[in-house]
Amino acid sequence: MENSFDIVVIGSGPGGYTAAIRAAQLGFKTAIIEKYSNLGGTCTNVGCIPSKALLDSSENYHAAKTKFANQGIEVGSLKLNFQQMYLRKSEVVKQNVSGINYLMKKNKIEIIYGTASFLSNNELSVKAADGSVNSVRSKYFIVATGSKPSSIPGVEIDKNRIITSTEALSLSAKPETIVIIGGGVIGVEMASIFARIGVKVTIIEYADSLIPTMDKELGKELQKVLTKTGITVLVSQKVQSAKNNGESVTVKYLDASSAEKEISAEYCLVAVGRKSYTEGLGLENTKIELDPKGRIKTDAQLRTAEENVYAIGDVIEGAMLAHKAEEEGVLAVEVIHGEKPHINYNLIPGVVYTWPEVASVGYTEEQLKEKGIAYNKGKFPFSASGRARASGDTEGFSKVLTDPKYGEILGVHIIGARAADIIAQSVVSMEFEVTDSALGKISYAHPTYSETLKDAYLIASGSGALNI
Ligand code: FAD
Repeated sequence: MENSFDIVVIGSGPGGYTAAIRAAQLGFKTAIIEKYSNLGGTCTNVGCIPSKALLDSSENYHAAKTKFANQGIEVGSLKLNFQQMYLRKSEVVKQNVSGINYLMKKNKIEIIYGTASFLSNNELSVKAADGSVNSVRSKYFIVATGSKPSSIPGVEIDKNRIITSTEALSLSAKPETIVIIGGGVIGVEMASIFARIGVKVTIIEYADSLIPTMDKELGKELQKVLTKTGITVLVSQKVQSAKNNGESVTVKYLDASSAEKEISAEYCLVAVGRKSYTEGLGLENTKIELDPKGRIKTDAQLRTAEENVYAIGDVIEGAMLAHKAEEEGVLAVEVIHGEKPHINYNLIPGVVYTWPEVASVGYTEEQLKEKGIAYNKGKFPFSASGRARASGDTEGFSKVLTDPKYGEILGVHIIGARAADIIAQSVVSMEFEVTDSALGKISYAHPTYSETLKDAYLIASGSGALNI
């Protein structure tokens, strides 16, 4: 094994493997180190990809059950094969892992399997699964070790009955009931998967709305939609404890009036957030510092307190999103290469893959109010869209927030069919400072869900919507 490189990336998630590819493209002799036997990190193995595979399968099943008959499609007796659904999910993960292996090979990146630990700022020890230890030296390092699920006091994750998304994505049989602590992105996505296939799901959320970090109106609309799917949504409730009773879990919580309540289910899924992962990294052998939340501290160029060590993705401050990690991976390498790259963090979109989907970029209405920034608001319902009526996806709205004087787009918040794809247009508009009136004038293909944005822009710019 080679043991001296220009750039060594620790961790093969979306941040790490993207950084490695960019480094190789720029001519650096590059290695990537991964402690698990599969490349791809959280996103590919136990995050974005498997959850989306199950979200799609469960949505197809749910649509066959609830939408098909009305459209004249009779499927006879519908049956769910839970094991096959999960098997397909594993196949999708496998295909993605092998895609990353291919990219490493194509770019001549050395893959080193093992757990990396700093011995100094230019040397690592790498312990392989068989216990052997090798030393790896490099001019530069990029730490991309990601994050792990976290919990709250009184709730100890035992991976048996009190589980995280990782275990929920690998169940061997369909449960009858599940309680989900946390109504954030992961909580509502997992709730959707299970509710659609007939599991009785309860979400307990501490804040007063679901997806509380996003624009409030999105959370309220999502709550209506999820409730219709049969999910019980409890907001403003504080979980006190979760107890594994063997075959079930009892969760105790305080309701909005501080009365003690309890609920039992087969599983309790803890989805209260994730914490940066730096365990065993040997940071004590370097000058690298952590912030009070345990995240690696970096400057704007993602450099740590060691000049030659960079950190990216979930292990540092910011949104825990795969595409944020990827952008940072490219940025760190380009900084090392002597370039002056830039990331506009305000324009990193956030997406929730429920159905309808939720997608957002820029400021929320609450943030604009808090900052005292004046704004115009244009909001257009999917129920008035021909495309949405045609597909039977009439829930949701597109909402745009724009500057009253110059028409600059300040924020876009969509809950509706294909919102995850539509939001790309908003990111481009905001990056290149297109105005609301310009966006109301350009042609949108008819009928498309994106036309809801056109009308929202027409409202915000004062021209008035054409379709409502
Ligand atoms: P990770 O992907 O966490 O990768 C870190 C890697 O480093 C791991 O493979 C780990 O084994 C390795 N590692 C750690 N320590 C060491 C060490 N000492 N030596 C060697 N290797 C080490 N984000 C989205 O943008 N869209 C989504 O739809 C989405 N869905 C999600 C669904 C779920 C259920 C979850 C849990 C997360 C989801 N995320 C999603 C978040 C996304 O997965 C993360 O933001 C992303 O994976 C972070 O990438 P990363 O490269 O920073 O770290």
